[in-house]
Amino acid sequence: MARTSVMPDLETEPIPLWGTGPDYDDIFRMSLMELKREGRYRVFQEHRRLVGEFPLSVAVSDKGERTVTVWCSNDYLNMGQHAEVRAAMKYAVDTFGAGAGGTRNISGNHSPIVALERELAALHGKEAALVFGCGYLANLATLATLGQLLPDCVIVSDELNHASMIQGIRASRAEKRVFMHNDLLHLEEILRSIPKSRCKVVAFESVYSMDGDIAPISDIVEICERYGAMAYLDEVHAVGMYGATGAGVAERDGIGSRVGLVQGTLAKAFGVIGGYIAGSAVMVDAIRSHANGFIFTSALPPPVAEAALASVRHLRVSESERAALHANVRKLRTLLREARIPFLDGPSHIVPVMVGDPVKCKAVSDLLIERHAIYVQPINYPTVPRGTERLRITTSPAHTDAMAEALVAALCECWRDLQLPLSGNGV
Ligand code: PLP
Repeated sequence: MARTSVMPDLETEPIPLWGTGPDYDDIFRMSLMELKREGRYRVFQEHRRLVGEFPLSVAVSDKGERTVTVWCSNDYLNMGQHAEVRAAMKYAVDTFGAGAGGTRNISGNHSPIVALERELAALHGKEAALVFGCGYLANLATLATLGQLLPDCVIVSDELNHASMIQGIRASRAEKRVFMHNDLLHLEEILRSIPKSRCKVVAFESVYSMDGDIAPISDIVEICERYGAMAYLDEVHAVGMYGATGAGVAERDGIGSRVGLVQGTLAKAFGVIGGYIAGSAVMVDAIRSHANGFIFTSALPPPVAEAALASVRHLRVSESERAALHANVRKLRTLLREARIPFLDGPSHIVPVMVGDPVKCKAVSDLLIERHAIYVQPINYPTVPRGTERLRITTSPAHTDAMAEALVAALCECWRDLQLPLSGNGV
């Protein structure tokens, strides 16, 4: 029997993609229009990093290609291009192959990742460590699991904590209390109001990556001890960068052993990819055994683990990268201060140059790359609060004095052309 087709004639009739239901694309289009109207639609700058050329990179756009100086990389120490790191990755790819072949439980527990976890535990002076696909996942999965495993738990969170911690706390469904940023009195007030018998986790960061300030870790840990709370410290922007062996600010301040759980990334100063936690053997075993974000995902590939291992090992014994970076940060701050470019004058390696308007912030970034071959990505809401849009500037051991002078001269020109206010002493 011949069948009658209900399909439209493809030659003549346009097919409505969504049939007669809502116009989904239109909804997405409207959401994007809103971002564009607010001036915070994100445009990614394509560029080609070149080994040996850092911080120079080849920016790629419709207009063609040109070499630019990158001033916003999180590969703070250029370990992503380090000879030992590249050699380790090449060795592993030729020895073990490209992929892990499974989750950690099902055939993915390869030797480089086991060695990496041992190294990370040793770095932080902890009994054990656990590697995740990235730092975001390490926070999300661990906090979600802690809040589920610890009975009647309250998670007390710094108001400026990273989105990954906020999502983890939300996913845990534990009670959440928020303390004002780095405010010890407020933290103590909250902890005092929670019955002693309840489990409490205090989640905070060492280096806050958008403002560049550093938490009073030692005071926070002391308060945690007084109220029987576990300190959960995100050292994502500090590992590799601070402390005698690059274990972070807690190591620098001599209190690493009193931090219950430390979380870090392998993607910033260590220059590769991956996230981790380190803590007591039993806690790490519990997270390993219960965290969905660890159990139900494939392990990092052996070349990645091997490269990260080489990077961690190198930075545990080499101080020269850290010393050169911090010297360059000091020089950059001095130049900005002299030029009266407004910036947050903090204690870390992050230098936020404040613009305070999304459209102008993007305009400065555009001028920098178009006129001066300088690449700094504008940072806007929701990464930072509205009205505090900024250029988050990061230097490295490889940025020269001439590059820093060129950056500051270019910023001065942008400030003049866009009629932005200059400041006295930082913001
Ligand atoms: N924690 C903080 C404070 C971060 O700033 C970031 C990322 O920028 C993360 C965690 C996530 O780390 P990763 O990039 O390894 O996913």
